[in-house]
Amino acid sequence: MSRFYSEKFSELEAYVPGEQPKDQQYIKLNTNENAYPPHPSVAEAAAAESARLHLYPDPECRELREKLAERLGLTPEELILTNGSDEILNFAFMAFCDSHIPAVFPDITYGFYPVFARVDQVPFRVIPLQEDLTVRKEDYLHAAGTIFLANPNAPTGIALSRAEIEEILQANPYNAVIVDEAYVDFGAESCLPLIREYDNLLVVQTFSKSRSMAGGRLGFGAANPEIIRDLDTVRYSTNPYNLDRLTLAAGIACIENDEYNVRNCRKIIRTREWTRKELERLGFEMTPSRANFLFARHPGMRGEEIYLKLKAKGILVRHFGTERIRDYNRISIGTEEQMEALIQALEKILKKGQKTGGTEK
Ligand code: PMP
Repeated sequence: MSRFYSEKFSELEAYVPGEQPKDQQYIKLNTNENAYPPHPSVAEAAAAESARLHLYPDPECRELREKLAERLGLTPEELILTNGSDEILNFAFMAFCDSHIPAVFPDITYGFYPVFARVDQVPFRVIPLQEDLTVRKEDYLHAAGTIFLANPNAPTGIALSRAEIEEILQANPYNAVIVDEAYVDFGAESCLPLIREYDNLLVVQTFSKSRSMAGGRLGFGAANPEIIRDLDTVRYSTNPYNLDRLTLAAGIACIENDEYNVRNCRKIIRTREWTRKELERLGFEMTPSRANFLFARHPGMRGEEIYLKLKAKGILVRHFGTERIRDYNRISIGTEEQMEALIQALEKILKKGQKTGGTEK
C-alpha cells in the first residue's frame, strides 16, 4: 500500500477472478466461459472495425441498442449497454444504494456483490441461503433495501421461478430489485417480460456466457426508461465511452446471428446433463443447476483435494474457501471432449483415493 492510498480503502479486499495459470495448457472449467467460440462473423466485424480505431465509439451505442432491443422485443430506451455485466452491477450499487438504502443479497451468491458494496461504500445485509442452498423467497418479501438476486444463483446454479420473483417484486414496491441473469439462457426463466409491469425491476444480462463473448466485455440492463436514465447518469459520470468500437461491432454481429448462440446453449445444456449423470455415477452430489456449470461435492473426498488433484492433471475447476460450500467445486461445462476428459480424470482420482483408504472429510 502506498502512502497515498486513501484510508477509506485500507480494508478493501478486491474481487479475485478465476485463476488463469500459464505454466501449461489447461482444460479451463473454472470461469464459466462458453465452450464454443463466437460466430465467425463476430471476428470479421471486429477486424473490419479496427480500421476506425482512431475515432471514439458512439457513446449512445445506438446501433447495437436498436438491434438488441429488436431481438428482445423491447425499445432502445429500455436498455443500457455496459462493459460486461459487472459494470452495470456496480452502477446499480452506486445508483440505488446509499447509507440509508442498504444492499440485500444472499450469503452465498456472486462474490462481487460484497466487493461492490464496499468499494461504493454502501452498507449491505446478507440473508443466508437455506440448508439445501436454495433462496427462500419469503426472506425477500419486505427487504428494506435494494435487492440483488443472481438468478440462477452463483455458484449453486439454482433458479427461482419467474412467478417467485414476481412475488418479491410485488412485495417490494419501494425497493429496487436487481435480477442478475448472467446464466439465464441455460434453462431458467427470464424476468425480461416483467420490466413493463414493475418499475422497481432491473434485469441484468451478459454476452459473456450464452453469447460466447466473455473476452469482449459486453453486458446490458433492461428496465423502465427512468431506471435506465439513472444508470446512464452514472455511466456518463464515470466513462461515457464504456464500450469500445471493437466490442460494439462484435456485439452487433453476435446478435445478428443469435440463433447460433441459441444452438450452442442447447448443446451445453445437453452436455451438462450428460456430465451430471456421469458425476452421479461416480458418487457426486449436485445442486439442480440451470447454468453452464455444475456445483458438485463427493462424500469421499474434500473439495479442495479434488480441485488440487484435477489441477495436477491439467483440469481447472473453481473451489471456494467459504465455510458453507467448502466441500464443493464449481465445474463449468466445456465441450463434450473436455467433459469426457474430466470424468476420466475424476475416475482415476477417486479410485486412487479409495485404495489409500480415502480422505477424511
Ligand atoms: N453475474 C454473475 C452471477 C456472474 O457469475 C458473472 C461472471 N463472473 C457476472 C455477473 C459478470 O459477468 P460479465 O462481467 O462477464 O458480464
